[in-house]
Amino acid sequence: SLTSKNALVTGSTSGIGLAIARAFAAEGANITINGLGDPGEIEKERVAIEADFGVQCRYSGANMLKGEEVTAMVQEAEKAFGSLDILVNNAGIQFVAPIEEFPDDKWEAIIRINLLAAFYAIKAALPGMKARKWGRIINTASAHALVASPFKSAYVSAKHGIAGLTKTVALEAAQHGVTVNAIAPGYVWTPLVEKQIPDTMKARNMTEEQVKNDVLLAAQPTKEFVTVEEIAALSVFLCSDAAKQITGTTLPVDGGWTAQ
Ligand code: NAD
Repeated sequence: SLTSKNALVTGSTSGIGLAIARAFAAEGANITINGLGDPGEIEKERVAIEADFGVQCRYSGANMLKGEEVTAMVQEAEKAFGSLDILVNNAGIQFVAPIEEFPDDKWEAIIRINLLAAFYAIKAALPGMKARKWGRIINTASAHALVASPFKSAYVSAKHGIAGLTKTVALEAAQHGVTVNAIAPGYVWTPLVEKQIPDTMKARNMTEEQVKNDVLLAAQPTKEFVTVEEIAALSVFLCSDAAKQITGTTLPVDGGWTAQ
């Protein structure tokens, strides 16, 4: 149970992050959610978490492109609930293009949201975790933290970077009761995957069905998409006391993709 723990999940207005936030709340943790989207829809999700699980849920609209906003989000979360025990760096975006045509601003935005924001959040959250001698940091990496695919140079670079950041901070935090791990999902059916289908169709000159079967699920031996609930369940386990010797890892949940 995560009763009396306070968690912050970035990029939790949708997809994997929302499932992780709800799974933590189901274990009794208070939650700060974060992310972009329609304010009315976000408020509905926030209220639903409080109503469904009887915990407190607050929302931060911090933009993960901006370091100062990331820092302020962590400080405010810690102040609002009195501690920040669990940090999940999950916000992420994708863009698919051959490197010669890759827009500079998209490359930089992917590095800022998918990698730099995790640095700023960890930097702000770790001192309190060390002082309280307990903390869990989970970074949503990707199979693309371990292997590459063409046309995803920014994303693969950011996710390999997250794996390195995870190892480094795990070593720095190892004697302070704080574990730091990354989860490396294969293809999970979320808006992020759905949105890259048109560009992949263009880049590879394929139909939608071909992209799903020959590109996405081609990589995944189980031939099934991973579910957001499966990623959330591993996140909950990593927060348990049973997982306290698991640190510095990047754990694949990818239907066998990176075994090949
Ligand atoms: P999603 O698009 O459903 O969710 C992304 C979340 O990040 C949303 O809440 C969005 O609002 C938020 N976000 C985006 N830009 C932001 C910004 N500038 N500031 C604050 N929040 C921002 O996607 P998802 O598939 O749930 O992705 C979540 C994480 O999982 C990402 O890091 C992604 O790289 C990773 N991942 C996804 C898959 C997959 O197949 N879906 C596979 C491996 C890794």
